Amino acid sequence: MYETKAYAATSATSGLALTAIPRRDPGEHDVQIEILFCGICHSDLHHVRDEFQDMMPTRYPFVPGHEIIGCVIAVGPSVTKHKVGDTVGVGYMVESDLTCPQCRAGNEQFCPNITITIGWPDKHGTAAQTYGGHSNSIVVHEHFALSIPSNLDLPGAAPLLCAGITSYAPMRHHGVTAGKKVGIVGLGGLGHMGVKFAKAFGAHVVVFTTSPEKTEDALRLGADEVVLSRHGEEMQKHARTFDFILDTASAVHDLNSYLNLLGVDGNLTLVGIADKPFQFFGPALLYGRRSLSGSNFGSIAETQEMLHFCGKHNITADVEVIPIQMINQAYERLAKNDVKYRFSIDMASLKQ
Ligand code: NAP
Ligand code: ZN
Repeated sequence: MYETKAYAATSATSGLALTAIPRRDPGEHDVQIEILFCGICHSDLHHVRDEFQDMMPTRYPFVPGHEIIGCVIAVGPSVTKHKVGDTVGVGYMVESDLTCPQCRAGNEQFCPNITITIGWPDKHGTAAQTYGGHSNSIVVHEHFALSIPSNLDLPGAAPLLCAGITSYAPMRHHGVTAGKKVGIVGLGGLGHMGVKFAKAFGAHVVVFTTSPEKTEDALRLGADEVVLSRHGEEMQKHARTFDFILDTASAVHDLNSYLNLLGVDGNLTLVGIADKPFQFFGPALLYGRRSLSGSNFGSIAETQEMLHFCGKHNITADVEVIPIQMINQAYERLAKNDVKYRFSIDMASLKQ
């Protein structure tokens, strides 16, 4: 066991402050990673502020961060996937049993024995719970470290590990390809990645935003059209026309107005997490055999596929790089919907 510096919240209102956390020494199949950049996802914010208390109460001290890019600095004796010096990424999961039917089918994200990167019971007993990437180093099973294409800009690649895969996986699953009409609800961290992927797949992309000032950015990022979602008339123009809608909004909103935009066999996938239940009108699904579904991040194979896709098409997130000392201002700004479009922490600042 060794100690590493980290930023942790000690309560829902404390903000984040410098602390030291224990990490395990790399075991048989583990890689030890020096963290270079870490994105800030809205899920980190939800957890830090205990906004999921009904389904997943936060236990403190809580170290967020699950969009991790780093360099392998040590490997266990049986590691074959990575070597010292490799640039790797870690997302929302750090372990699963690798033997259950879901793992064997390549769906580690649905493993009943999964270990999430932040605030999950630590099976190794190093600490009461797992600590995330707002820290100088992390140790994970080799299977859960992803290879990062060498041409990608590292600060912008960090958000691919959650925002990237969470928008890529459902689009692939629901067959987004050239010629499909795709809606992206919410232009934030996930949403702006959704626009980039949908565009790269050749779809006709429509962004739905509550923020008129984001219109220009949405078009620059690749949207073909932008709709202000609070304008009923603008919404109505698109009734019954969408093949797929990715809903990334981070709070409860009116789902019915989006379900009505789906065409025959259209699907709306929710990836945004609201702390209150949604209400929707059931019959809206009957017309056109529409479906409403959800998706959480993605499997290791899907994440690696997404990273290769990003390498090939040179896709990264639009980031504001910050030192860790700016962390509390960054969380405040994320809460106020004031980020273009992801914060990426330069973790070298934590060594100072
Ligand atoms: P973000 O950067 O804050 O973006 C969220 C966007 O939602 C905002 O930019 C805003 O877009 C829109 N929005 C905010 N409040 C809204 C409201 N009251 N009504 C309608 N739209 C609203 O957050 P993110 O990091 O992209 O994460 C988005 C959500 O996905 C969060 O709830 C997060 O916890 C969740 N998440 C889920 C997974 C998963 O595995 N399913 C993974 C990562 C994150 P406009 O200004 O354009 O309207
Ligand atoms: Zn996330």
